[in-house]
Formats: sequence, structure tokens, C-alpha cells
Amino acid sequence: MQKIANYINGKLVEPHSGKYIDNYNPATGQVYAFIPDSNSQDVSQAISSAKKAFPRWAALQNSERAKWLEKISEGIHTKLEMLAKAESIDNGKPLSLAKAVDIPRARDNFKFYASAIMHFASESHHTQEGMLNFTLRKPIGVAACISPWNLPLYLFSWKIAPALAAGNTVVAKPSEITPMTAYLLSEICVEIGLPAGVLNIVHGLGATTGNEIISSHEIDLVSFTGGTATGAHIAKIIAPKFKKMSLELGGKNPNIIFNDCDFEAAIKTSLNSSFANQGQICLCGSRILVQRGIYEKFKTEFVNQVSQMKVGDPMNDQSRLGAIVSQSHFQKILSYIDLAQQEGGTILTGGKRVQPTGECKDGWFIEPTVIEGLDQQCRTNQEEIFGPVVTIQPFDTEEEAVALANSNEYGLAATVWTTDLNKAHRCAEHIKSGIIWINCWLQRDLRTPFGGMKNSGVGREGGWEALRFFTEPKNVCIKY
Ligand code: NDP
Repeated sequence: MQKIANYINGKLVEPHSGKYIDNYNPATGQVYAFIPDSNSQDVSQAISSAKKAFPRWAALQNSERAKWLEKISEGIHTKLEMLAKAESIDNGKPLSLAKAVDIPRARDNFKFYASAIMHFASESHHTQEGMLNFTLRKPIGVAACISPWNLPLYLFSWKIAPALAAGNTVVAKPSEITPMTAYLLSEICVEIGLPAGVLNIVHGLGATTGNEIISSHEIDLVSFTGGTATGAHIAKIIAPKFKKMSLELGGKNPNIIFNDCDFEAAIKTSLNSSFANQGQICLCGSRILVQRGIYEKFKTEFVNQVSQMKVGDPMNDQSRLGAIVSQSHFQKILSYIDLAQQEGGTILTGGKRVQPTGECKDGWFIEPTVIEGLDQQCRTNQEEIFGPVVTIQPFDTEEEAVALANSNEYGLAATVWTTDLNKAHRCAEHIKSGIIWINCWLQRDLRTPFGGMKNSGVGREGGWEALRFFTEPKNVCIKY
């Protein structure tokens, strides 16, 4: 069985302890590879090599670093099919999704930041005659990049690419639940001869390996994407050290559908925004709020179409939903479906485990599930489930819809369906979330600020925001 290696100081190496963690294929429920159980020695070696590599990497011209990023991007492009298959096996997502979204996006993240760093500029202020201020932006040092399992290479590269482009060196840890494509990325870095120590990838558990990385005094900033509880733990460690951190955390996103929406488009996109990647995208809408005038019509059509969504082998092109990423997450989702019923909810469709025949019979599959009849304050509507489970409820007025959307401690994304431009703008202004989609969902432009409000995080990624995060601004005032 394949053993994944750490990538430290330009080399693929075994963990010091010689210990490995089981890596599961969620579609079969079987172990198919082993992940290094890295300890403090591995982490400290990775950080030292990143520290050593920093001065030379930071001193390169932007155009030289851009060339390295382009090479990584080309490496991903060349291996797109293989990486997509690996991502699908590791995560359980449909191969078609990994091929169309995850891997192309990882490739584009490197390509985008290779270009962005060439256009990144800083401000200057002509204060008065004889006096000029300008902002000098310098790379910071060793960046710790920690990412989750839902979009493994996509989110891993979303951090690493701007960190490297800006001139930092990186120690990164993918989720131990989905480490494979991060490992394959390290193979690409070896193949292209990326200078030793510029990027280091250490595998292992979050609570041990991840914690060692972020607790080290030698790292200079932290970029984290994951759950809100983990984010709070990381903030407690990093904040007293006054290091920069960016936290992209959980969500419980509303999907508001007004009477005057384009009905067909709202149905079609809501199927995706609810169940893409088995509902395991932080931007998925999990609370569907429908205006009373079309509530019954929408509910009937939505439930009808959800019940026809095929769940099964991620390798099968017909599967709209694949497997849930891990057994513990699978059980957590099922427990929320139980909770919803205890709280008085009615399951309109779904709610059960799916057991395909053949190779996937022991995999972790759940039917796409729609639940009605719950009030806004119950746990099912307040807590992040992060699976193929949505609730649906009616509202009467725009004010009520906005109040319902905001009555949650998260504030990552919201979707609004209306053909009234004024209403759309008012909703965008009043809904407290970092991203608002009007009549669409998951249309990403990599230049836009990405991140959440409230318990959904601190800071923004994307475009200049990421390059600002990964550089330290210094004001230089010149009297002449
Ligand atoms: P976790 O918070 O459990 O883990 C995220 C990452 O942090 C993993 O690599 C994990 O490692 C690591 N980690 C865990 N504990 C520590 C620690 N003490 N120190 C350092 N690293 C640690 O989240 P999930 O992986 O379960 O991801 C799902 C969550 O991510 C959801 O809440 C989702 O909403 C959120 N998310 C947010 C996004 C956003 O942009 N706002 C985008 C995507 C997801 P390991 O897995 O090996 O334990």
C-alpha cells in the first residue's frame, strides 16, 4: 500500500517516528494508503528549512518567483486527470467535480498569483511639496498554512500560492483526512526543482502536527481554513504573540428565494448550492428561506428534483453526490438528521444512509435531505452540519428574510433570488455575511475579497487581500 511522504527541504522524507496513520477511501470505507504521523522533529526540521530558504526566496524578483509558480501550475495541468482521480478517491467527491472544479482551480490559483504578484503595487502619498510617503511591502517570513479536507488541493493552493508569490516560505499541513493531492503536489515541486525549503509539507494530525506548527515561535504568520472551534483555539495561541493570522471558518448560509425570482434558475442552482460536494462546501446554502407566495410550489419542485439526485460511486459519471469524507463525519451528519426530527422537523426527502452495491457497499453515503418545520433558533438551524442536509422554511416580508438570514452566529455567504434590483441591493447591504450572491452561486472571481463575518472568520483571502496579508506594510516618509 502506498506510503505518503513529507516534503521537507526539497526532499520527500519519512516521518522521524516511523509511524503512519491510516488513510481511508470514503467510497469503500477501506484503508488505501498511509500518512506520516509527523512529530515535533519533523515540524522543526520543516520550519528550519523554510527559515533558511527565506532570505534567498524573498530576494528574488517578483518575475522570478512568478516563473516558479507558473511551473507548479503547469505541473498540475499536466497531471490533471491523475490528480482529479486521486482527489476523488481521497475525499469521496464525484470524479466529475474534481475534474471540472477542484484541480483546475488549484492549477489556476498558482497561475493567478504568478500574474497577480507582477501587478501588485503599493500606495504613495505626496504629502506636501518636499515630502513623499510611500508604502514599502515586504514578505514576512515563514507562513504556516493549514487547510481542511473539503476542497483539499483547491484550498491548500489558495493559501500557498499567494504566500509564495509574495516572497514568504511556507510550512503547510493538509488535513490528515485528505492528504493525497498535497503529497502529489510535493512530487511536482520535486520534479520542477523548486528550491529546497521554499515549500515544506508536513503530514499528520491537526491536534499534534498542526498544533506543533502553529505553536512554534519560529513561524511568522498563520493562514488557517477550517472549523470555528479550531480557529478559536489557533487564535488563542497566535493572538498573544501578535502574529498576523487569517482565519476562514465555518458557515450556516441562508439561501433566500423571493416570489419574483426566476423560478427555474433558483431551483436549478439551489440543487447545486445545497448538495455540491455532498454539501461539504463552506459556501453551500443550508437554510433555504422561501417567500410564502411560492413556498409550496418551490418546495414541491425542489423536493421532487432532490429525490432524483443520484448518490453513489464517485467514479461513476452519473453520481451527483459521492461519499461523505470520513466515518466520523458521516455519523455526525446522521446524528444531526436525528436531532432535526427530535426538534420537530419533518423529513421531506432523504434522511437515510445509502448502501450502493459492489465495491462501495461499505462506503459512507447519505441521501440528500430536505427538512421542514423547524424554527430558526433550533440547533439544526443554528449549527453547521456540513453535509447533504438543508432545512426549508417560509417567510413573508423582505425584512423578515433578512432577519432570519442574520439570526445566526455565522456570516460567511448568502444567496438571494429576486428579479427586483432594488431589493437585491438592499439585501446585499443588510445581510451580515462576507459574500452575497444575487441570482447565482459559487461564481468565483479570484480577484475578489473572500472571507466571513462574525464566527465565520477574521481577515480576507483572494486577490490583493491575500498579497496584503502575506506582506508587511512599512510607511517610508521622505523629506526632500
Ligand atoms: P478542522 O478545523 O477540524 O480542521 C482544519 C485543519 O486544521 C485540518 O488540517 C486539521 O488537521 C487542522 N487542525 C485541527 N486542529 C488543529 C490544531 N490544534 N492546530 C493546528 N491545526 C489543526 O476543520 P475540517 O477539516 O473539519 O473542515 C471543515 C470546516 O472547515 C467546516 O467548519 C467548514 O465550514 C470550514 N471551511 C471553511 C472555509 C472558509 O473559507 N471559510 C472553506 C472550507 C471549509 P486534521 O484534519 O489533520 O485534524
